[in-house]
Formats: sequence, C-alpha cells, structure tokens
Amino acid sequence: MRIHANDGIDTAAKSRLQEEGFTVTTDHVPQDQLRTYLNTEKVDVLLVRSATKVRQDLIDACPGLKLIGRGGVGLDNIDVAHAKARGIPVINTPASSSISVAELVMAHLFGLMRNLHEGNRRMPAEGRTRFKELKKACEKGSEVRGRTLGIIGFGRIGQWTARYALGCGMRVIYVDNRTTVEAIEMEVGGQSVRVPVKMVTMDELLAQADAISLHVPAQKDGKPVLGGAELARVKPGVVIVNTARGGSVDEDALLAALKEGRVRSAALDVFTNEPEPREDLLTEPRLSLSPHIGAATAEAQGRVGAELAELILHWRDSVQVA
Ligand code: NAD
Repeated sequence: MRIHANDGIDTAAKSRLQEEGFTVTTDHVPQDQLRTYLNTEKVDVLLVRSATKVRQDLIDACPGLKLIGRGGVGLDNIDVAHAKARGIPVINTPASSSISVAELVMAHLFGLMRNLHEGNRRMPAEGRTRFKELKKACEKGSEVRGRTLGIIGFGRIGQWTARYALGCGMRVIYVDNRTTVEAIEMEVGGQSVRVPVKMVTMDELLAQADAISLHVPAQKDGKPVLGGAELARVKPGVVIVNTARGGSVDEDALLAALKEGRVRSAALDVFTNEPEPREDLLTEPRLSLSPHIGAATAEAQGRVGAELAELILHWRDSVQVA
C-alpha cells in the first residue's frame, strides 16, 4: 500500500510505516497537481496537515483513495462528510499538539506584554541610530502575573493554555458553549494540584480580561467569535492572541480596534487567507505574527506521527480482517 504525506510526516513514523510494508512518499505536491499525482502513483492513503485541502472534487477525482489522515486537530480543510459518504474513513490526532499550541500562546503573550514584537520589527533598521527612541516606544510593558486571561473555547488547547497561565500567576476565566470545567488538574514540581477556574459569560469575559486567547474550532456558520460587536466591548488596552483559525477573529474589526487603541496589541498565528495573508495585517506594527506554527514542534510532530502510524496500522488490520 502506498501512503502519501503531502504536508510531511515525522521521520520515526515514516520508518515505522515503511517497516510495516507501506511505501511512504513525502514530497509536497502543489494542490492543483495533487489529483494527477494521487491517481498516477496509485496512492491508497493521503495524509495532510492544515496546508493541503481535501475537498469534494479531489475526493471524487481519486477513486483509489481508501483513507484520509489529518495530522492535527481541525478537520476544516477536509470534506469529511463527503469522504465518509464515499466510504473513505477520515482519521486525525486531536490531542497530540495541544501543549505546543498552548506554549506558542504564552510566547506571544509574553511578547505582547513587553512589546517584543515592536522591538523585533524596529531594531534591525533603527537600533543603531534611534536606540533611545526605541527604548521609549517599547518600555511601557506589563507583567503577566496578576493579570486576567480570558480563554474562549475551553477544550484541549484552552485547558493547556490555562495550565501555563495559572503557573505564571494569572487569573483564568473562560467561556465555552459546551464544556464546563470547575478546576484544572496540573503538575507543579512533581506535585499534582487542582486549581479552580471560572466559567463566565462572554460579556463578563470581554469586560474583565486583560488578555484574551481563542481556542474554538472553525464555526459552522463561518462567523467570527470575536467580531466588531465583541471587540467594541473589550476592556480598553486588552491584548488578544489568536491561534485558533483565521476566521475566529474578524480581521477588519481587529485592525480597526488596534488603530483606535482599544486593543493594545494582538498576535496572530492563523489567517483567513492562508497561505497568502493580507498585506495590511503583515505590516501592522501592533501585531505579533507567526506563520501557523502552533503545532510545529519536534515533540508535537513526533506524537502526531506516532498516533497517525498507530491509526493507519489499526485501519489496515481491520480492513484485512473484513
Ligand atoms: P477542542 O474541540 O478540544 O476544544 C474546542 C472548544 O471550543 C470546545 O470545548 C467547544 O465546546 C468550544 N467552542 C466551540 N465553539 C465555541 C463558541 N462559539 N464559543 C465558545 N466555545 C466554543 O479543540 P482543541 O484541540 O482545543 O483545538 C481548538 C482549535 O485550535 C482547533 O479546532 C483548531 O482550529 C485550532 N488549532 C490550531 C493550531 C495551530 O497550529 N495554530 C493547532 C491545533 C489546533
């Protein structure tokens, strides 16, 4: 059987699958050539991360596909219902990257609180000639300890973000339209502790949070969770981190709120128009930016690969038995 991992796969997982008799290819094929590649190479299993789209037309055009795998959480780049209707199972690895995404949130959050994004943008050009002015521009930072973090979407990544934030002395409040969690289990210095967390209404979160982090999936109605109406009600000077999906925060409304100063600064790891984010986001000095790297650590990709390999082997065994 042939597996094609179009957005790459961890090398240990690749070796494991090869040892089990699979042929595994990992060279990235551009989206518009993927249909031809999958058919001419007779690919049985297509693996993707977030970059490659597996839409209805691709599924229909590749009758040899038997399994689709997503290394990561969100399945919004795959037409799952259509695949299943055609008898093609879709597998993913939801828990493997939560810690890595939460750590990226904290990296952005610390950076925003101390204006590192501004220093990083301006130091290369102005560091030698305008050092004192840069120091003045970047110096009004804040500590995170004692600040309130509002988490929107309190699933796997939201709860891991809460652990890191609580560990840094932040107060955590959250909203979630499904999950209610009274306390978070966390390990500190080898000791297991339970720390209470508070579910609030969206209005309370917007009014109280000094920092907001989003951890919701792509919404079925396509609407942003933080749109103009919500951004009008935030605590003035709030910082926002979005590692969820580009559409989770309305990009126009965010730019307007940054320009007005209502939102002090924000960090984006995800964009509506990936892989070509809007120019005005890239050049906005109050934004700290990363190119969708939430899950891109060696550890997360190792776990993603190992879990995918297990799921593929399990699927092969079940197909052989059937
Ligand atoms: P999860 O399913 O464990 O948690 C999502 C939570 O959001 C759920 O508890 C759900 O009830 C809640 N929710 C959904 N819609 C909501 C709404 N409108 N208001 C309030 N709560 C809402 O998912 P997860 O593993 O925590 O992942 C969250 C998202 O993070 C993924 O769907 C994906 O889009 C994104 N993600 C990004 C990266 C990255 O590289 N930046 C990596 C992994 C995941």
